[in-house]
Amino acid sequence: MEHFDVVIVGAGFAGLYALHRLRSLGFSARVYEAASGVGGTWFWNRYPGARCDVESLEYSYSFSDELEQEWQWTERYASQPEILRYLNYVADRFNLRTHIQLNTRVTAAGFDETANCWTIQTDGGSAVSAAFFILATGCLSKPKALEYKGLESFQGKWYYTGQWPHERVDFTGRRVAVIGTGSSGIQSIPVIAEQAAHLFVFQRTPNFSIPAQNRPLSGDVRQDWATNRGSYRQAARVSPFGMLVEQGTGSALAVAPEVRENEYEKRWQRGGLSMYGAFADLFVDPQANQTAAEFVRTKIRAAIRDPEVAERLLPKSYPIGTKRICSDTGYYETFNRDNVTLVDTCATPIEEITPTGLRTTAGEYHVDSIVCATGFDAITGALCHIDIQGRGGARLREKWSAGPRTYLGVATTGFPNLFMITGPGSPSVFSNMVVSIEQHVDWIGGCLAWMRDRHAAGIEPTEDAENAWVAHVNEVSGYTLFPQANSWYVGANVPGKVRVFMPYVGGVGAYREKCDAVARNGYEGFALSMARSSAA
Ligand code: FAD
Ligand code: NAP
Repeated sequence: MEHFDVVIVGAGFAGLYALHRLRSLGFSARVYEAASGVGGTWFWNRYPGARCDVESLEYSYSFSDELEQEWQWTERYASQPEILRYLNYVADRFNLRTHIQLNTRVTAAGFDETANCWTIQTDGGSAVSAAFFILATGCLSKPKALEYKGLESFQGKWYYTGQWPHERVDFTGRRVAVIGTGSSGIQSIPVIAEQAAHLFVFQRTPNFSIPAQNRPLSGDVRQDWATNRGSYRQAARVSPFGMLVEQGTGSALAVAPEVRENEYEKRWQRGGLSMYGAFADLFVDPQANQTAAEFVRTKIRAAIRDPEVAERLLPKSYPIGTKRICSDTGYYETFNRDNVTLVDTCATPIEEITPTGLRTTAGEYHVDSIVCATGFDAITGALCHIDIQGRGGARLREKWSAGPRTYLGVATTGFPNLFMITGPGSPSVFSNMVVSIEQHVDWIGGCLAWMRDRHAAGIEPTEDAENAWVAHVNEVSGYTLFPQANSWYVGANVPGKVRVFMPYVGGVGAYREKCDAVARNGYEGFALSMARSSAA
């Protein structure tokens, strides 16, 4: 059986950088990727309007000065094709392709305690072994299947935003249904509305969305970035969300209403995710949160001509920010178009998909195409999809049946030499993910090099360290409003999934400090096993 130092699953931002970093450190590595190309999220999510919601200059790798100088982003928020081009450029620029096997899904992996290595199986029926097994499988890579019966019987075309076809989809002259108004729905709805003869938007829970204020990147902005890149990148690394959002330190309730409104207005005009930083207590104090929520609701009311439609678009059932705030281009205004109908599926739930459309409790909507913007089995979905067996044959999905348990979101007890990039219990989806990905990869690379220097063969978290970290993750999220929404952060979007708040919300900077301290203290909280020869 072929053997590698490291096998990595996934060739998105995480897998590509892990491959580059570990090979630079002298480890042999193989990447398996289920898709027919690299890019991960940006390979799969080709739906109309897809783009990043963290500014392109920040939502990109910082590990290579040359790369930073060579690549020029064209827009403040890059579109999916541009980000995919970038990731392909990275794969070529760093000679990664020969180490990546595409069209190959990892189906199972088992740890051999005697040999201290993993055997990894793929859907092609082949197996390889590796000393280390790294899961770069993505937090948002396993689309959630639509729960309604009948989709297969639908005679028109249907699509998942997260598995969009490669060929151009033309909705011209078509009656289209979009199910879902999360970030994917909110980005695609305005674009589809411009093409379709009629668009029906099936909304279950209204979302808070803020205009992206996207624009081409000006020469001045680029010049400023080129000059100050080093300090900007460092500021992002130690910031709460891994991005350059100006972070307010005071309470929303401690200032006069007009000062507060001005602050919200400033951030609305700046666009995108900047609202997250408006005041220090927005996500811990329900009253403070209400002020921001009401500000956005007022904006929604002002954008929509029909007051009844506006009312249905107002998010009221959860605090703002406890589901990811969406970033849009013309979303609310789309509902002023004559060819767009909002269908409130809370009032009239969808019952089934029929051969000709969707049936709700209020009757049937006949459509030619259905777009499922219904989200993902997030954070744990792709990890648990692989049948991973650790020490004593214990299965990861069984260990996590009451919710994921990790140490630092990077490793889990009972599964030696297995690392997760942006795993549950790390800031992951609560951050600019490229910053979090680079931090995890660098930390894992450092750990593997440290082990090699000491002839260590195995590493895994102690139970005590894991228990303490899980308690800390829960304690921190318990101080906040984040667990309150029925969001994918808690698994509430997937029927039957256990409800546990999965990301770490203590902040990217604080988390980085903790990880660095663990490494400095000889990988405190991890148990090491030595290679037989050196133990002797
Ligand atoms: P992914 O990009 O998801 O890559 C994982 C790869 O692993 C996939 O290609 C998948 O096919 C592969 N894989 C999984 N399981 C297996 C298996 N068993 N065998 C083989 N291959 C497997 N984050 C931000 O910070 N800012 C943004 O603006 C932003 N925008 C987003 C927009 C969309 C539409 C979506 C869906 C997510 C967005 N995210 C954003 C989150 C985004 O997922 C991350 O930023 C980042 O791209 C994740 O990179 P990754 O490599 O960790 O995972
Ligand atoms: P999502 O946020 O989970 O949204 C899914 C939407 O589908 C929700 O409105 C949900 O309603 C609805 N839905 C799900 N199942 C349904 C059902 N059976 N019937 C009716 N409605 C249903 O998923 P997403 O929009 O793909 O976004 C996921 C995450 O990916 C985002 O939060 C973000 O982190 C990332 N993303 C980012 C961008 C970007 O701007 N760069 C774009 C896309 C995605 P409920 O709320 O009622 O469950």
